[in-house]
Amino acid sequence: MNTMPSPDLQILLNEYFAAGEMYPRWPWTWSAMTPDQAAALDTVVERWISTYNKVWAHTEAEIVPACWRQHPGLAIDTTVMTWGYYFAHHDPRATPLVAVQYHHQALVHFRSAVERWLGEEPRKCRTGQHPDSWRAGPESLIDLMSGNTKTVHNEPHMPLRELHFGFDHLAAEPEPEDK
Ligand SMILES: [Zn+2]
Repeated sequence: MNTMPSPDLQILLNEYFAAGEMYPRWPWTWSAMTPDQAAALDTVVERWISTYNKVWAHTEAEIVPACWRQHPGLAIDTTVMTWGYYFAHHDPRATPLVAVQYHHQALVHFRSAVERWLGEEPRKCRTGQHPDSWRAGPESLIDLMSGNTKTVHNEPHMPLRELHFGFDHLAAEPEPEDK
């Protein structure tokens, strides 16, 4: 058994257990991650998804496809599920009840939500043909509401670190290599 966390996981655990900081960089908050931390987080979430797909994806609709990063809602959800798993199974403060809640509430919800996070053509995503138009319907309505008349199509890939949801004062500073 490997007794040490992988280097990627260690980078994130340093933030997870950072004590005494006013604004800790919780490793499930993409906008708080530096580019190096975001790269580590990407690897750790990818590992969780790989195991999830093998253990808990019992139907096609429950499979998380390789294009998960291009579906920000799914990417954020898989990230909190990754750390929810950690908290339920490995955090020193975990209790059996936390694990029960994770498995009987969070995971049940997640499995039923994957299909919706993928948008309008989930099968294309699952066969490696992620369509840029995966959210064309809602995007056109959102544009209509805001009076935007430009032709609507989804951005091919929204950088997860830029999604601060208005909490930009807590976002990590961009670094030179961060384009
Ligand atoms: Zn996709």
